[in-house]
Amino acid sequence: QDAGEPESVAFYSQDMNLGMQSRMRLETGLRHALSGQQLLLHYQPKYELISGRMIGAEALVRWRHPDLGMIPPAEFIPLAESTGLVVQIGEWVLNAACAQAQAWKKAGLPPIRLAVNVSAREFTPALPARVAATLARYDLEPAWLELEITESTLMHNIERVIGIMDRITELGVALSLDDFGTGYSSLSYLKRFPIDTLKIDRSFTTGIPIDANDCAIASTIISIAQQLQHKVIAEGVETAEQLAFLKSSGCDEVQGYLLSRPLPSEDFERILRKNWDL
Ligand code: C2E
Ligand code: CA
Ligand code: CA
Ligand code: CA
Repeated sequence: QDAGEPESVAFYSQDMNLGMQSRMRLETGLRHALSGQQLLLHYQPKYELISGRMIGAEALVRWRHPDLGMIPPAEFIPLAESTGLVVQIGEWVLNAACAQAQAWKKAGLPPIRLAVNVSAREFTPALPARVAATLARYDLEPAWLELEITESTLMHNIERVIGIMDRITELGVALSLDDFGTGYSSLSYLKRFPIDTLKIDRSFTTGIPIDANDCAIASTIISIAQQLQHKVIAEGVETAEQLAFLKSSGCDEVQGYLLSRPLPSEDFERILRKNWDL
């Protein structure tokens, strides 16, 4: 055997085991979370700049752990991606968002788009049928739903991905391209994807209006979106200066702490009613 092995075994037992143990604990916990009603959704409003109206919201998953409190998705979604559990989490999220939409619909509220994040691992040929079945189960028009996918989803098998996107679009469900500009998607492919909205990543919004590069990137994404007849939204808007820059650059929609943090459903519903003077 390799002479280096004893050393690496020692390394594993001292350091990696700990990481591995807490990783496994987290994974077991996450399986319990799925079955034991520890997951919930928060909703972050999206605003149309021209009218100032809230036109939708992004559903963001939260894990309320019985001992550890709220665990942010940044801490368990990457693990769920690597174990495949993200597929079940995604099913739960789509279902929960549509159940919520149905409750708002029954309460007489006009449709707003609820955007659900879809991981690359969920983006299989089975997805369109699952989306259609979920809309039917909750008696929802497709205008209630939007799916946010990231650039990495597009990079696998282009023809297959386009086929899936086409079938989702045919259902009438909108697709937006999340974290745009952070991946490696080729501009020549971009025009082939049936996408409604490009979403400018927060890493670019953050530098506006001080950082000339971030301003240039944001303006360029807005102009690409306009040329390709997509809508464009900026995420992570935290200051009035960022908002003013995006408005004057022709950005369609904004989302960020300046306007609202992600909210529990009851708080979001209050904003929803105010939005329509209900
Ligand atoms: P994302 O899809 O890019 O979501 C936006 C994240 O930015 C959210 O963090 C949101 O709370 C945060 N955010 C919004 N406005 C601001 C702002 O003005 N300033 C700052 N600093 N942050 C802002 P969150 O909820 O912690 O989610 C993190 C990531 O976890 C998401 O990034 C997404 O990639 C993933 N995620 C969340 N929910 C789901 C889900 O249901 N399914 C999947 N597959 N991934 C999810
Ligand atoms: Ca997102
Ligand atoms: Ca994003
Ligand atoms: Ca982001």
